[in-house]
Amino acid sequence: MGSSARTSSGLFLQRMPSMSDTVTLPRSTTRTKRIRSTGEKNVPRHDARLTARARFRAAAAARSPGRPHARVLVIGAGPAGLATAASLKMIGVRADLVDRSGRIGGAYARLEGGIVLSSPAKTTQLPGLPIDAKTRYITIAQYRDYLRRYATHHALVPDRQIIEKIERVGDNFLVYMAGESRPRKYEAVVVATGMCEHPVWPRIEGLTEGPRKQNTPRVFHSRDWPGHAAVAGKKILIVGGASSAIAIAEQCAKAGTPVTVSSRREQVRFSWAKLRGLDFRGLIYPITRRLPRWLFGERCGSRPAFTGTDNGFRKYRRQGLIDVQGPVVKFTGRQATFADGWTERFDVVVLATGFQFRMPFLPDEVERASGGQPLADEGQSRSWPGLYFVGIPCGRTVASEFLHGMAADAPKVAAQIRARLRVR
Ligand SMILES: Cc1cc2nc3c(=O)[nH]c(=O)nc-3n(C[C@H](O)[C@H](O)[C@H](O)COP(=O)(O)OP(=O)(O)OC[C@H]3O[C@@H](n4cnc5c(N)ncnc54)[C@H](O)[C@@H]3O)c2cc1C
Repeated sequence: MGSSARTSSGLFLQRMPSMSDTVTLPRSTTRTKRIRSTGEKNVPRHDARLTARARFRAAAAARSPGRPHARVLVIGAGPAGLATAASLKMIGVRADLVDRSGRIGGAYARLEGGIVLSSPAKTTQLPGLPIDAKTRYITIAQYRDYLRRYATHHALVPDRQIIEKIERVGDNFLVYMAGESRPRKYEAVVVATGMCEHPVWPRIEGLTEGPRKQNTPRVFHSRDWPGHAAVAGKKILIVGGASSAIAIAEQCAKAGTPVTVSSRREQVRFSWAKLRGLDFRGLIYPITRRLPRWLFGERCGSRPAFTGTDNGFRKYRRQGLIDVQGPVVKFTGRQATFADGWTERFDVVVLATGFQFRMPFLPDEVERASGGQPLADEGQSRSWPGLYFVGIPCGRTVASEFLHGMAADAPKVAAQIRARLRVR
């Protein structure tokens, strides 16, 4: 079985074995012996202490060094990948779970902990473990803790691997991982790599990516927002009008730092499901996670920005702590010029300008929507049967890219995978 590993939270977890792991031979051997599943030279073929079964296994591993431990691969250990790996486990399907960072939590492992999630806490829980939140809304730090508990509960530990390329050969997939000389072969692959690897950097004159020049503002994408304390006392401009912009503006205002929000339409986008303090999402979400993607035709997944939740935004705006302006068009040093000609100096610019669902390790033959995300029906790629997506816009339903959508999709995708493996 698997070995133990220490997580960043200090817990020891059961480790899911993968092809590159060492294989522990059965106890019937006089002494527990470890062999590598890759490479002929490591196979102790003439070791008299091995049982016949262990010898057969070792020889099989040597004959086909590309053979993985599991038949299924889950890529990404964020909420989508964890939910899928847990759902597979709960129905008895073994899967390898890999993540480029090797950490649990995906984007939530690195996002600033003080940001409040716009989804109500209860709607963010994943299959098999209630969230047990004391408040209606929770912060990213609290959700991160939940994901760690979730991984412990389901004994999930990702292997640190970067997927570089996937090819389809017959009904199988060859998966190329960084640093491995041979691809691994899988019968089903679940891509749960999210969007946060690909932040959108807007084109604003004078605001370029790369090393900071003298006398220019410090610029972060919202993904790398360091938290209010790191920029307290500075003049802050937040570019964007959706959930991240709203949450970061609220965090600053709550701490007493005034901020300016630059939004294309001179207004921010609140979810209509929360009006006058009443949140209808508990009622609406169970419906949206059942609305099939085809109901919305090509519009489905056209990627409107995540709408935010008013957790004080309007109040802080009335108090003068949040100012909302139109689009910023250029920077001259620290000086921003807005579309209406207004100018102001800023020390810090936060680009809350969203993300793209790009999967550069998949070839062009995997059909994509105009927004770049793969096209899927019931979570399965339209072009490559056996390739699944959890957490992409309209992967299965209109809610698929949201936490509550991932939680609903993961068991369905897991059941499809089990059915696929059974008929093979
Ligand atoms: C600030 C913020 C607040 C949000 N709030 C909400 C909210 O309230 N409600 C809601 O529903 N959604 C919210 N979201 C959106 C969504 O929940 C998150 O983006 C979430 O992280 C998506 O989970 P995921 O598992 O799909 O992807 P991620 O959490 O991004 O995890 C993907 C994982 O894949 C790994 N990976 C990527 N490429 C590779 C590769 N080539 N090889 C190996 N591993 C790879 C990454 O290392 C990462 O760990 C928010 C997003 C942000 C940024």
